[in-house]
Amino acid sequence: MVNKLFVDQVNVKNKRVLVRVDFNVPLDSMGEISDDTRIRAVLPTINYLLDEGAKVILISHMGRPKGKRDPKLSLAIVAKRLQRLLQKDILFLNDCIGHEVKAAVERMRSGDVILLENLRFYAEEEKNDENFARQLAELGEVFVNDAFATAHRAHASNVGVCKFLSPCVGGFLMKKEITYFQSAMEHPVRPLVAILGGAKVSGKIEALRNLINKVDKIIIGGGMAFTFLKAIGYETGKSMVEENMLDVAMEILKSAKNQGVKLYLPVDVVIAEEVDPRAVTKIVPIQEIPAGWMGLDIGPASTTLFAEVLENAKTIVWNGPMGVFEIDAFSRGTLAMVNTVANSYAMTIVGGGDTDVAVHRVGESYKISYISTGGGAFLELLEGKELPGIAALTSKEA
Ligand code: AMP
Repeated sequence: MVNKLFVDQVNVKNKRVLVRVDFNVPLDSMGEISDDTRIRAVLPTINYLLDEGAKVILISHMGRPKGKRDPKLSLAIVAKRLQRLLQKDILFLNDCIGHEVKAAVERMRSGDVILLENLRFYAEEEKNDENFARQLAELGEVFVNDAFATAHRAHASNVGVCKFLSPCVGGFLMKKEITYFQSAMEHPVRPLVAILGGAKVSGKIEALRNLINKVDKIIIGGGMAFTFLKAIGYETGKSMVEENMLDVAMEILKSAKNQGVKLYLPVDVVIAEEVDPRAVTKIVPIQEIPAGWMGLDIGPASTTLFAEVLENAKTIVWNGPMGVFEIDAFSRGTLAMVNTVANSYAMTIVGGGDTDVAVHRVGESYKISYISTGGGAFLELLEGKELPGIAALTSKEA
């Protein structure tokens, strides 16, 4: 466990507790919340603080307003949903700094909850501006960071604020994310198998390099598999290949071999001439991709092979889809992988990018040990990086 303080290790009674959460929920075309997972994910921390008699001040971003007020990205809609989930009145303020906010916070009583307006209505938030961070910090006496999904960014509300406010502690979601990740990557029950997919090798090189040093086996699917296949001499047609990554792919293959890590690539693929739901598709062995066709999903033989690779795994970490899963015709490989992972006896951790979206499309996602709430943050952990939002928290002995 990282040597940081968490919310259950500090006194919050009657204190103004500033809590950074990630309420960046997806909205549908009517502007309604289409998925409230991110709000539900921080309820344990909020409820704990309320039980302990704290005054809870919630701060979050939503979308990309680029430093300007945008009514479509107001957190007012989140306030309504949160009120329902907590079964309690909460106060929503239409700013996140300033006199009115300060005055309202000073009037708070133990057990009150205030949600402040979108932090990113101020460009200073993403610039990690000191003055903005100080104004946020002045609102609280304790800072809790429960926004794992933004922990890979050094912004005013998760890093800057810790310069002016102490203690800065992690919330329960943060704790859960870190604990699961560490038990999978630092003290794994072996064999540890990583599954990497998604679009490009370039976006995942650091993760690949780091994983090669830790895992027993690695499965590579998705668009990135074609750069590896091309590197070892297959004709890949119009498939997604990053020519400038062929050397890197070879280097990774060699390094896997040198370290005794077994690396698996697809043996067959679903191909089409276009990325189109109406395109004619074929399943071919990897040796038989015709010119002008592209691989858009792993084929059934690869699905079986990968399931066998995962058969005896004790720990599985997965990032990135096996194909263009957004289109039904190219989603089978990813959906089959969700089934295999969900029904495995291993400890299974999934996260990063769109992987959670793919996983939630299958009814069995509840069988996965942990689905990370962080896209980019999870990927950076896979890369072996220290996340600034976690680094900024108060250390235990401090
Ligand atoms: P990433 O964000 O890197 O995990 O990439 C996710 C994206 O990769 C998804 O939107 C998929 O549609 C895309 N993808 C997966 N497999 C392929 C493929 N074979 N060709 C093109 N795109 C792919």
